[in-house]
Amino acid sequence: MNLMPELHVHHPATLAEAVRLKAGLPEARFVGGGTDLLVNLRRGLGEPGDLIDLGAIGELAAVQRIDGELWVGAGMTLADLVRHPDIAGDYPALADAARAVAGPTHRASATLGGNLCQDTRCIFYNQSEWWRQGNGYCLKYKGDKCHVVVKSDRCYATYHGDIAPVLMVLGAQVAIAGPGRVRRIGVAELYREDGAQTLTLGADEALAAVVLPPPDARRVGYAKARVRDAVDFPLAGVAAALRREGDAIAELRVAITGTNSAPLMIDTAGLSAQPWGDAAAAKLALSLRKTANLLRTTVTTAKYRRRAMQKMARQLVDRLWAEAGHG
Ligand SMILES: Cc1cc2nc3c(=O)[nH]c(=O)nc-3n(C[C@H](O)[C@H](O)[C@H](O)COP(=O)(O)OP(=O)(O)OC[C@H]3O[C@@H](n4cnc5c(N)ncnc54)[C@H](O)[C@@H]3O)c2cc1C
Repeated sequence: MNLMPELHVHHPATLAEAVRLKAGLPEARFVGGGTDLLVNLRRGLGEPGDLIDLGAIGELAAVQRIDGELWVGAGMTLADLVRHPDIAGDYPALADAARAVAGPTHRASATLGGNLCQDTRCIFYNQSEWWRQGNGYCLKYKGDKCHVVVKSDRCYATYHGDIAPVLMVLGAQVAIAGPGRVRRIGVAELYREDGAQTLTLGADEALAAVVLPPPDARRVGYAKARVRDAVDFPLAGVAAALRREGDAIAELRVAITGTNSAPLMIDTAGLSAQPWGDAAAAKLALSLRKTANLLRTTVTTAKYRRRAMQKMARQLVDRLWAEAGHG
């Protein structure tokens, strides 16, 4: 680890002030809990000069029910999110995914917004300065070559957030604040498949809240494979939301993380109006294979992560199908 670089830390009291500051300091970085950003800065990954600390902004930690939707502030810590009765009661899969993030001490400071906006990861990037320098840096930062896909003109670092896929299958949106404006987009639209430039946020924009649709009868779950259960990023993660009508799938939504440069929805169009079983599972496995692009971005092999993803998807939908059958 390097010494922390010289930083000027701003402490705005409102979101409006935070985005106004950011508009005037495009290279500055927002900081929520700092559990992702500060580790990277200590590795020499970025030299922002200014940090805009969102920790004092009360409105960012609020949870509000508005017209049936639940607005969860981007500054809410994951520990508070797990404990919140509206989330634990109506969106238990979201609470499960948040509980699966890192370890308890991380979750006490880590925020929802920081989780969604966390940096992508790669074994050629999450290294010390001297290691990266010795290897000629890489396309994601300071270099001109991707060591994972050598002839590539884009970075293949992987997105490893646990929460985004659950929000995607729930059909949640994010509210994004810029100077004088707020816009809403689906969670999937927050990302693009480019490891060096994953977020679609503008330089003057902050994540203000996650907007959850009213709870419904769908069964939702999240499964995660990791090296150490006590504290680790997903090697692969699968979220699914299932609506069952009698012996047929009425709706199945599946999203994956830890596999590509963005969390992605899986095409499940051909799975409706049929029972869940080996035939439907084979179709889902094919769709997963088509979308997931597991590469050598973690110390664990791509082959293992691909198999774990397939197995978790099957087990997760098996479980949701059985639960939905019991009403
Ligand atoms: C040992 C270890 C294990 C971890 N394991 C996991 C894991 O299992 N699963 C997982 O998902 N993550 C994991 N993480 C990563 C990280 O701890 C979590 O993702 C955490 O939720 C990040 O939240 P934060 O508030 O600390 O983010 P920060 O570090 O404060 O910020 C992360 C990024 O988001 C940006 N940001 C923060 N808030 C906003 C906002 N409101 N609007 C726009 N941009 C914003 C920051 O500028 C920064 O680029 C792990 C980290 C460590 C060190």
